[in-house]
Amino acid sequence: MNDCIFCKIIEGSIPSNKVYEDEHVLAFMDVAPVSKGHTLLIPKQHVKDLFEMPEEVARNLYAAAPKIANAIKKAFNPQGMNTLNNNGSFAGQTVFHYHLHFIPRYDETDGFQMKWEVKQNEFTPDKLKSIAEEIKDNLNK
Ligand code: AMP
Ligand code: ZN
Repeated sequence: MNDCIFCKIIEGSIPSNKVYEDEHVLAFMDVAPVSKGHTLLIPKQHVKDLFEMPEEVARNLYAAAPKIANAIKKAFNPQGMNTLNNNGSFAGQTVFHYHLHFIPRYDETDGFQMKWEVKQNEFTPDKLKSIAEEIKDNLNK
């Protein structure tokens, strides 16, 4: 039995506030929104996270993303929007069916915060070059 809460939302056995649906994806309101219009976009195929996502699922998912972002923008006229996805519990994932968050940004007090500590001194140009090589070596593995 599939215990996935988002699969149940797709089936309709758990209620949700749907905003968009096609053959491949579903978008619905996050039940605990950070800001007005906080929406989740999910593939209909159960995929745990980005690491396990087939390319075709990714294509279909992101094909719908601008439509969702623009509908939220037109509805609420935010100053900006963060789209983000958490992969793995260490990264904050709590529901293990891939989802892309759309979080409209209104002002400094809208509830969204991102700490982004840059380390340019540590990651010298030479280091960046070798890190890029390591990643490249692991493509298609
Ligand atoms: P994450 O922490 O990135 O895995 O995000 C999971 C998100 O799913 C959270 O923002 C929750 O508020 C949201 N969520 C959990 N259950 C439901 C539900 N039944 N309907 C809508 N959103 C949900
Ligand atoms: Zn699922």
